[in-house]
Amino acid sequence: MQARSAARETRELVAIRLRGDCPVCRRNDLLQSVSFEAIPFSCNSLHPDADSAIAAPTGQFVLAFCRSCEHFFNAAFEDGRIGYTQNYENSLHFSPRFVAFVEDLAGRLSTAYALDGKLLVDIGCGKGDFLKRLCSTSGARGIGFDRSFEDNRGEAVASVEFINDWFGDAYPDVKPDFVSCRHVLEHIANPIAFLQELRAHPGVGPDTVFYIEVPNALYTLRDMGIWDLIYEHVSYFTPHSLRVAMETAGFEVLDQGASYGDQYLFIEAKPGEPRVVTPFSKSEKIDALVDRFDRTYRDKVAWWRDYLSNRDPERTVVWGAGSKGITFVNIVPEGARIGALVDVNPHKQGRFAPGTGTPVVGPESLRGKPLQSIVVMNPLYRDEVVQAAHKLGLSAEIIVA
Ligand SMILES: [Zn+2]
Repeated sequence: MQARSAARETRELVAIRLRGDCPVCRRNDLLQSVSFEAIPFSCNSLHPDADSAIAAPTGQFVLAFCRSCEHFFNAAFEDGRIGYTQNYENSLHFSPRFVAFVEDLAGRLSTAYALDGKLLVDIGCGKGDFLKRLCSTSGARGIGFDRSFEDNRGEAVASVEFINDWFGDAYPDVKPDFVSCRHVLEHIANPIAFLQELRAHPGVGPDTVFYIEVPNALYTLRDMGIWDLIYEHVSYFTPHSLRVAMETAGFEVLDQGASYGDQYLFIEAKPGEPRVVTPFSKSEKIDALVDRFDRTYRDKVAWWRDYLSNRDPERTVVWGAGSKGITFVNIVPEGARIGALVDVNPHKQGRFAPGTGTPVVGPESLRGKPLQSIVVMNPLYRDEVVQAAHKLGLSAEIIVA
């Protein structure tokens, strides 16, 4: 009881410290949207046993929307609470659908920026899969920077090296022609300062090209991707707020668009002259989207609560132990009773989800199980799951979350 009331006091304290200005444009014309009392700080850090997974620390999530630059962010985010260690596992490179996306991207970038023979730096390279692919496709040399890099898998690519560190001033002799930074910016409490630092790095020249990729907040809103809201993501960029962020930090935008079935945004830029950016959004549709998102969020959570309570949650599995799956089991009432999270990534299997302690298993372990339902977290993987379930002889209902 003591511990529980202490936890409540902590949460109340957090609620007082909600951020009142936008981390991109610094204005304060904000709308408040959905909020969660407690979600795990670190969705992608799976635990070795159920007890430590259940004891994983959680934080408050309050989605705020900036009407000036169309940016979304967690106004309750506390910087420094998440440790990105080697337990941090978010690689998607075990899915054929994702591998095809990365191959296309590597091909396009190596042609567009003539990367053959050049030096590439990948910031927040994770396990290094993307950089290796980009270098082997283009014939470039690469250096990956990531504090969570772990040299434990995959074939080494001779022209690629990895440094367990941040790409900071300690590396003035690393002078990249091309810098990629995928799915990092949304984790940073102060994205503008982060981008300014990159631009000012002593190794960055006037012709260094930057490729920045983040999840697309408009996809989250339009397609009700509420399972994409996770504590690790402070920011949810829209095309407009991503552009405002880059220009405010002193970049000249070369190209911008959406990819991966509209789920990602990318922006390509090079250092430009510092300028004053007018953040004002031109879209009037966003207020309506936010409003609809709020209502649909509540309806969707209630729908899943009813769905699970009319079935046996223990005979239900969630396919995909990435952030969406972890958010799902933590947010939906009864979600903690779900039998397992299924994932094709062998590095996740045998581990446990933070918050609920749900075990993560491989598809093969489902063979012969009397499953009622398979909840698919990402609609892009539905066909893959249908095929896998067929091969395993499962007759469960397959339903997208
Ligand atoms: Zn803003």
